[in-house]
Amino acid sequence: MPDQRRILARCDALARHSELAGGLTRVYLSREQAAANELVLGWMREAGMVARLDAIGNVVGRREGERPGLPCLMLGSHLDTVRDAGKYDGMLGVVTAIECVADLAARGKRLPFAIEVIGFADEEGVRFGSTLLGSRAAAGTFRHETLDAADKDGVSLREALRGFGLDPARIGEAARGREDVLAYVELHIEQGPVLEAEGLPVGVVSAINGATRLAIEIDGVAGHAGTVPMTLRQDALAAAAECVLAIERRCSSVAELVGTVGRLETLPGAVNVIPGTARFTIDIRSPRDGDRVAAVEEVCAELRSIAKRRGVMLKVAKTHEGGVAGCAPWLMEQIGAAIAAEGIAVRELPSGAGHDGMAMIELCDVGMLFVRCEKGISHNPAESITAADAETGARVFLRFIENFQPKATA
Ligand SMILES: [Zn+2]
Repeated sequence: MPDQRRILARCDALARHSELAGGLTRVYLSREQAAANELVLGWMREAGMVARLDAIGNVVGRREGERPGLPCLMLGSHLDTVRDAGKYDGMLGVVTAIECVADLAARGKRLPFAIEVIGFADEEGVRFGSTLLGSRAAAGTFRHETLDAADKDGVSLREALRGFGLDPARIGEAARGREDVLAYVELHIEQGPVLEAEGLPVGVVSAINGATRLAIEIDGVAGHAGTVPMTLRQDALAAAAECVLAIERRCSSVAELVGTVGRLETLPGAVNVIPGTARFTIDIRSPRDGDRVAAVEEVCAELRSIAKRRGVMLKVAKTHEGGVAGCAPWLMEQIGAAIAAEGIAVRELPSGAGHDGMAMIELCDVGMLFVRCEKGISHNPAESITAADAETGARVFLRFIENFQPKATA
């Protein structure tokens, strides 16, 4: 049986490698990441794996199957964090996967495939503003122009790699072959409140939602708050307020579609001045690309009509667009079977947050198992899971691994 106390203790141990005193911040290619990698490499070796750092800085451990050199089932998650993070987002998936391998090793059990555990070096993209660098390199989709990206101190990714003892010219060597990887399966905390609301410890992810991000600017006319009559105003903030409510209304009308205005600023921003400019962001996500694209189009049309009616200028810029990464039905079925075998109702749910699977899907089929977290909180020190849920997650994950059937024979 996987040891739930050791899983939680190892998440605690990783959380101690932080640049933030009294909290957790561990970014790509930092000193703290080097220390966390050393810990994980040690745990992998202790679990009977051959472990190494790959060319982009991912930690990779491998346990051979019934004979050496078989293609692998790849398990894992990421080891980097956001700023002032919780200690389970990412780390729980890596630590649990190692725990499952340790359990197999303790029983001397060999499977008809190899197992690899990967701790991705950069999922969150905090340092260089570009997400999924570790999994993109593993999937063979790393773009070399990314090497010129710089962190807030002006250190380029190229320089940071060298400082970490890695050779930027050899990143291509991190790419895996399609024939070597049977599937990529990740255990992760839900980061949402659905499982908790339904009283379920785990769930099967159906898709990682697609997302569109827009940057909006509304230009009206600034004026004196005391002298311009209400009927003669072109108030940019009042127009933005109407837009925010329109976005909320439109995105509430379709199941599993979500839309958020997360930032709003007004200029000049004085108590006695009518706002001349309002800038805000829109983030729209859905497990169905068609729903998302339709919502984005309709929201933009509605914003244009609000702007026209109010006599203000509207500028829309698309800052991000990414389609749905659908989890493979054959993997969902096998993960679901492992859940059902533990006597737990099988709940399928989409992931509203991004994950390494979005990159790995370019290489192989992807599956995910969600573990309930308290109040759906993540990216925050209050992120929390129970020991019982960590254990249930690990038991389900181990059962899935032991019963895993590659697609060709499934
Ligand atoms: Zn994560």
